[in-house]
Amino acid sequence: IFDKGLGQHILKNPLVAQGIVEKAALKPTDHVLEIGPGTGNLTVKILEKAKKTTVVEMDPRLAAELTKRVQGTPEQRKLDIILGDFLKVDLPYFDVCISNTPYQISSPLVFKLLQHRPLWRCAVLMFQREFALRLTAKAGESLYCRLSANVQLLAKVDHVMKVGKNNFRPPPQVESSVVRMEPRQPPPPVNFDEWDGLLRILFVRKNKTVAANFKTQSVLDMLSHNYKTYCSISGKDVPMDFDVKQAVMDVLDSVGMAEMRAAKMDNDDFLKLLSAFIDAGFRFR
Ligand code: SAM
Repeated sequence: IFDKGLGQHILKNPLVAQGIVEKAALKPTDHVLEIGPGTGNLTVKILEKAKKTTVVEMDPRLAAELTKRVQGTPEQRKLDIILGDFLKVDLPYFDVCISNTPYQISSPLVFKLLQHRPLWRCAVLMFQREFALRLTAKAGESLYCRLSANVQLLAKVDHVMKVGKNNFRPPPQVESSVVRMEPRQPPPPVNFDEWDGLLRILFVRKNKTVAANFKTQSVLDMLSHNYKTYCSISGKDVPMDFDVKQAVMDVLDSVGMAEMRAAKMDNDDFLKLLSAFIDAGFRFR
């Protein structure tokens, strides 16, 4: 009956559902967004606590089942069901997001939430264990990656609960974890695309030195191309003897980061490096 392609693993343990909703510390005035409500085991607990709940469900059969489940209850008028793909629909205003997410859309789901405006107060989200550990990994830890740095630039992320596979029907292949995210307010004053462009280069091989990752020909070509575009837009002349490799190494030396490795660099390091590059006229997208 359940569609594996849609990651339909229903949370059957009511204590876990209760725990997830409690971690959100809902206020009676809250508008909650739930992604992938399935048969509604989390939804009914959210409805008890919140003023309004909007759910986004892609499977019409499950949306119908949820409609039936609340029909005739006092909670019915507090629930809005959007039928569609979470990644494609326009989101309403919400204060808190709660979701036992479809794991195959974990990464775009997180970034869609973080790009939503106005920013929300917190999100309590269930993910596959390894993805959750990547989200929360700190510089120097083995799972630390571009995702960790990107998400932690935009939000404070905490691991709040481990959930074993037997709490689901049917049980998934992997263990799960719940994380809590709070967006940084105000958002950091950087252009996210530039930031991500820099991190893509540094995390291609996170244990190599920054200098080594920047010496790749494709990276130098991209930087040189963007540099020239930037010069022409801002009406500056490209120096006759412009040597992109030398210019890049000069930037790395100016902040003392040529021999550092992304695996051990934190967001303050990346911010410092990005701003040195931008000041020197480099662009990463
Ligand atoms: N929340 C329910 C629970 O905890 O029992 C069900 C969780 S199940 C892991 C994921 C749910 O997300 C399923 O109901 C599935 O149909 C739905 N889903 C999958 N992909 C989706 C998408 N792109 N947009 C919206 N819902 C989706």
